[in-house]
Amino acid sequence: MEKSLLKPFLSIIVLMTLSVFALAFTVGVELSFVPGVAMELPEQVEGWSGSELRFCHNPEVCARDYKDASYYADELEIPDICPECGDGLFNMARAEKEQLPDDTEFVKAAYTNDVGTRLFTSIVLSGTARDSIHRPQRCLKGQGNTLDGEYTLKVPLEGREPLSVRVIKTSRTYRTVEGSVPYYSFYAYWFVGQDRETPYHLGRMFWLAWDRIVRSTAHRWAYIAVQGTREAEGVDYEKDIINFVQKVYPYVLTEEMREKVYTQ
Ligand SMILES: [Zn+2]
Repeated sequence: MEKSLLKPFLSIIVLMTLSVFALAFTVGVELSFVPGVAMELPEQVEGWSGSELRFCHNPEVCARDYKDASYYADELEIPDICPECGDGLFNMARAEKEQLPDDTEFVKAAYTNDVGTRLFTSIVLSGTARDSIHRPQRCLKGQGNTLDGEYTLKVPLEGREPLSVRVIKTSRTYRTVEGSVPYYSFYAYWFVGQDRETPYHLGRMFWLAWDRIVRSTAHRWAYIAVQGTREAEGVDYEKDIINFVQKVYPYVLTEEMREKVYTQ
């Protein structure tokens, strides 16, 4: 397309997108709220063993100043009771509980492989009241991380096309008695709707609006994330992301979503 033609063409696309958004939030539609994720993380997948995490919210003791007081569920003597203070435990951190709508669902777990690499994974499922999924970039910065770059990584999956995940490289400095210690990590994520997947926040926003209008479907979007540490240089950590996602991916989807993505 010639350059002179491209500009009005783009303007039309932008206008159409805006119209869809305007309609999406003003038209009364009968909505169906079916998630695409199963909201469970397996205890074991090939090469990785996991434990769900539980969080104490006690503002005076364990979670004072929003400290992240987490426990491995399988190490708790009494399920869902804090071993430090005796309070009931939650599936999400105190700040998440306070900032997100009550019908937001969480499942979080830590996985270790046989060489001791540890990954933290979480699924956050938006409720029906309002969409509670934020851009992860904002949350990571809010937690004191520096964002060192981001890109899309393709994870090859048997029996279907590769899954695109978004990877953010982060770093931060911890002050310890020995001085400042740099800490490098990665944050890989993708979004799952009722029957859609995308690694892009804007893509998710578009489908959210589009499906409301065209299909009368209000996705309860889920947000799946995998976090771990990395070296200052290089991309060795990608091997862990790919290996772990390949193993855990089939477990986190609903039967309908699994059927759909594997028959495309
Ligand atoms: Zn406690």
